[in-house]
Amino acid sequence: MSHPVINTDECVSCGACVEACPADVLELGDEAVEISDADSCVGCGACMDACPTGAISEIADE
Ligand code: SF4
Ligand code: SF4
Repeated sequence: MSHPVINTDECVSCGACVEACPADVLELGDEAVEISDADSCVGCGACMDACPTGAISEIADE
């Protein structure tokens, strides 16, 4: 199972990753983006590519 690794200190809550995700895995929380549906992540990396601040450092495999 995959999931994005999010550094919340670098997240500016722009929503680009939420928009880019084809599986509705992410949602904006109060201070940073959050994983709302980890089971749906297909590991495509679109969220990481869309992030302007590099807050998503990798797509983890476990
Ligand atoms: S890796 Fe792909 S499916 Fe998983 S959260 Fe990022 S955009 Fe969504
Ligand atoms: S694209 Fe990056 S900065 Fe924007 S909400 Fe997602 S993780 Fe945060």
